[in-house]
Amino acid sequence: MKEVLFLNPVFTHNIWGGTKLREEFGYPVEGNDIGECWGISAHEHGDCVVREGVYEGMTLSSLWTSYPELFGNYKSERFPLLTKIIDAKEDLSIQVHPDDEYAAVHENGSYGKTECWYILDCGKDASIVIGHNAKTKEELSDMIRNGRWSEFIREIPIQKGDFLQIDPGTVHAIKGGTLILETQQNSDITYRVYDYDRLSNGKPRELHVNQSIDVITVPAKEIGDSVRHTDDVPKNNLYELISCQYYKVFQIDVDGELEFEQSFPFLLMSVVDGNGKLDGKPVKKGDHLILFNGYGSVKIEGQLKIIASTPV
Ligand code: ZN
Repeated sequence: MKEVLFLNPVFTHNIWGGTKLREEFGYPVEGNDIGECWGISAHEHGDCVVREGVYEGMTLSSLWTSYPELFGNYKSERFPLLTKIIDAKEDLSIQVHPDDEYAAVHENGSYGKTECWYILDCGKDASIVIGHNAKTKEELSDMIRNGRWSEFIREIPIQKGDFLQIDPGTVHAIKGGTLILETQQNSDITYRVYDYDRLSNGKPRELHVNQSIDVITVPAKEIGDSVRHTDDVPKNNLYELISCQYYKVFQIDVDGELEFEQSFPFLLMSVVDGNGKLDGKPVKKGDHLILFNGYGSVKIEGQLKIIASTPV
């Protein structure tokens, strides 16, 4: 039987969050501070529950542990990826993540974090923080320790449909008004470089100065290598946006019909626009699902934009 694993997302409330996840995606969640929708997650801070079918009511983490064959016996103690939609009404703090090696030593054996962003929506003349302007480690240290933020921060223009890979060591931040889909390693380790001198409960939030200086890559990757536009992506195709050591991410724009083989260990899918059918089952904007190992041929019909991913 071809079971499609639909998941109920988990939501977070954040001071910088907004209302788009309810108003544009139709998720049943209250509040005007909805920051994140964890669409496919088995993380201890948000473990998605199966919406329907044979595994209804189980968490993704328990499914991972109990039925490894559904995931092709993929070699990882924990579910390896996490897919989120982030609605930033306000600017997020400027951050950097460590790699596996640094996190293992300094963060109790945790994984590092590699992530990538697909820009679902943003304002006209929007920008994003990626990279920095320091040329050497010494200059980086001086800029951070002495608060030379306007010299340090590198902002680049973005538009809807842009895709950014954020390797460990990359300084990054989402600006207010931006809606993104994030695919990431299943890890939480984040170092806050700068928080725009904002106060939270009357005092500034902690900055991780030493860790940031340790892990930030100098010099930063060239601007041209940091962002790619996706206007030219062919329709009705499993189009690869990135392949790195942790994941492959695909953009799937269905206009009519698409058929392909699910021959990956397993495939994560988030419908970010439109609606249609997947092997006869209705799917719509806001659905998050997994196609298991050995699923075989997949037929998608309708008008849909899907961001899919698989671990490597
Ligand atoms: Zn990040």
